[in-house]
Amino acid sequence: MQLLTGKEVTEAVYVDLKKKTIDFIEEHGFAPTLAVILVGNDPASQSYVKGKKKACISLGFGHRDYSLPEDTSQEELLSLVKTLNADSSVHGILVQLPLPKGLDENLVIATIDSRKDVDGFHPETVGKLLIGLPCFVSCTPKGVLEILDYYKIETQGKHVVVLGRSNIVGKPMAALLMQKGRDATVTVCHSKTKNLKEITKLADILISAIGKPFFVTADMVKPDSVIIDVGINRIEDATQKRGYRLVGDVDFEHVKENCLAITPVPGGVGVMTIAMLMKNTFQAAMQLSQKDNQ
Ligand code: NDP
Repeated sequence: MQLLTGKEVTEAVYVDLKKKTIDFIEEHGFAPTLAVILVGNDPASQSYVKGKKKACISLGFGHRDYSLPEDTSQEELLSLVKTLNADSSVHGILVQLPLPKGLDENLVIATIDSRKDVDGFHPETVGKLLIGLPCFVSCTPKGVLEILDYYKIETQGKHVVVLGRSNIVGKPMAALLMQKGRDATVTVCHSKTKNLKEITKLADILISAIGKPFFVTADMVKPDSVIIDVGINRIEDATQKRGYRLVGDVDFEHVKENCLAITPVPGGVGVMTIAMLMKNTFQAAMQLSQKDNQ
């Protein structure tokens, strides 16, 4: 069994990005810059935002953090997004989700200038992704592809089963894998899928993004298949200082005996997401600065 560690992949991504950032700053006189908007006090969101800032600093990117109170109005949030759209020193804009109740996520995302949509959630970006045009690929599915590429796991002609059909993971994951060039045969499963085990057992590559700890058990997996665990779930653990630990959707200890390769949780897909956000921010800065020069 091969362990597909995201940590190893991100190290390679960061080494490459650091070099490119030095060259970028030398050529343009400014750094790729990411603006992150956080509304409210959700502890998980606060910690994700912190991680993004840390990554920006370590790469030499510029970063702008906007921490808005829980009772921020729709108009105030849209106004900030529009200000950042118009600010040529900002190349990527990310609104940390979920937003507090009462704020319209779809409207907020659609208001971001699609050229700065480094999360890849804007409807225009999603449309481009579906028809195979160049675009910002949303960070988690992009991270999965990066892992597959890094470990030279071929997808052409393979049967990939994706568990989950969310807009941020399952759907873009399936769309990317079925594109020409990736050439996988993709089955997408969700909570209404019948005979799930019969389907997962057909998978050459099984990608789980459902958010249920230990859901994928050894008897659901074809021997010698590749298992990608996107799930990040908290389970109680009194031995941990914080009272919980993180596990994936896959029953790792048992499934690992039966498969060819598997991503761990933590240290697998999870660590890829911020690295891919940094890649997208660099790409946005490149594209916007080329346009500025025209
Ligand atoms: P959502 O809750 O938006 O979607 C979950 C999906 O799983 C839905 O499509 C749901 O089906 C499906 N599902 C739920 N129960 C079952 C079941 N019993 N059988 C089959 N399908 C089922 O979750 P996300 O896509 O946002 O996230 C999924 C997991 O990935 C979470 O653990 C999350 O923490 C993690 N995640 C990790 C990221 C990272 O690595 N950085 C980033 C994003 C997410 P239905 O549509 O019918 O309800």
